[in-house]
Amino acid sequence: MLELGTDSESAIQKDQRYLWHNITPYNEAAPPMIAATGSGSWVTDTNGQRYMDGMSGLWCVNVGYGRKELAEAAYEQLLQLPYFPLTQSHMPAIALAEKLNNWLGDDYVIFFSNSGSEANEAAFKIARQYQQQIGQHYRHKFISRYRGYHGSSMGALSATGQAQRKYKYEPLSGGFLHVAPPDSYRRLAGQTVEEFNLHCAQAIEDMIIWEGVETIAAVIMEPVITGGGIIIPHQVYMDRVQEICRTHGVLLIIDEVICGFGRSGQKFGHHNFGIKPDIVTMAKGLTSGYLPLSATAVRKDIYEAFKDKSDDYGHFRHVNTFGGNPAACALALRNLEVIEQEHLIERAQLLGQRLNTAMMDIADHPLIGDIRSFGLLTGIELVENKDSKKPASLDIVKSIIAGCKRKGLIIGKNGDTVAGYNNILTFAPPLSSTDEDLEFLISTFKHVMSEH
Ligand code: PMP
Repeated sequence: MLELGTDSESAIQKDQRYLWHNITPYNEAAPPMIAATGSGSWVTDTNGQRYMDGMSGLWCVNVGYGRKELAEAAYEQLLQLPYFPLTQSHMPAIALAEKLNNWLGDDYVIFFSNSGSEANEAAFKIARQYQQQIGQHYRHKFISRYRGYHGSSMGALSATGQAQRKYKYEPLSGGFLHVAPPDSYRRLAGQTVEEFNLHCAQAIEDMIIWEGVETIAAVIMEPVITGGGIIIPHQVYMDRVQEICRTHGVLLIIDEVICGFGRSGQKFGHHNFGIKPDIVTMAKGLTSGYLPLSATAVRKDIYEAFKDKSDDYGHFRHVNTFGGNPAACALALRNLEVIEQEHLIERAQLLGQRLNTAMMDIADHPLIGDIRSFGLLTGIELVENKDSKKPASLDIVKSIIAGCKRKGLIIGKNGDTVAGYNNILTFAPPLSSTDEDLEFLISTFKHVMSEH
């Protein structure tokens, strides 16, 4: 185990020799940060350098680092029963499934997996099979949005709308279609935000009709596109998409992998819009990243369609060895209790408002084209020119991120390089951040922006 004070030179050499990093170019000049410990919103590397994690890892450490009670929940469960498959059952999975129902609004049955990608794969398979169970044999296609992200496995990647992540791996799974997202910042001149959002929702209905209503299984979307650059829909968009899905017998799958568990200022992102999805997928904040776990929540009546079949082909033929691991479920349960007991959802609202107000103070900076906030999630779109909205160069984006890092602050960069939009800085600190943490994030970022 790497501890503080480990010879970081040799650790870096071994890292470069043995470890294949996630989505990071090999020619990245800076060596990787090797994290050793974490506490609250801060991580410390093997050199003893502290950083505030303004991205909660990969948008997941909602309750912050170093929670002993989470570690203990997992430890106790590992001693009692470390594993049992969910072809049968165990108490932590039952308790967590009930709790998730309670958080969602009590109408769902829960299928557990290990990652966001897998939760979405399960959702796709459930949607296709459900349509067959009810006699809709041609309904196999999915509609999602460009710039949305739904995971790295072949199906979830097919639903993803970011070319940079996809084109080296073609051909992907068939039957995945995409429409433009409601990116209100880039709406046509003279169009109101409502008009533009309705226009974007209409693109979904048009696609359903043109493709053949009887061929569409489901629409999948995040409440707010996160990894694609914090694209926030207007209420009219969500209402209209729900209405379109219901009208045409298309299931609505909401991907809450990032927006869930308080990040949006509500328990789930879709609660902000008052819509009722058919399927909800979740991961990340479910365990605050402490252990792998994900879930696919399926409306009860959809589940029922898999149940009462006289032949052996009715049930869901999907198995997952590690999904719903007892220790991961016990930890997740404790994680949800911490969010409740410490009122972290209200905290996310408060911190999110403060962060947004503070960022608005520098909205006239020549590089800042747009500031978008949703709960404790902020995206700042950097542009070369405020009138043309031409995205800022990747060099500038990287320089700002590196400037923050030098001052001990980790922030994110999102978008799609191939499409020319890799110009959105993202902020998603732990919901448990202290006032001082948030002040550090704001003042450090403002300082770095003043140098650009
Ligand atoms: N959906 C969304 C919205 C995500 O942000 C992610 C991960 N960033 C995924 C799905 C996939 O999750 P995982 O990396 O756990 O497979």
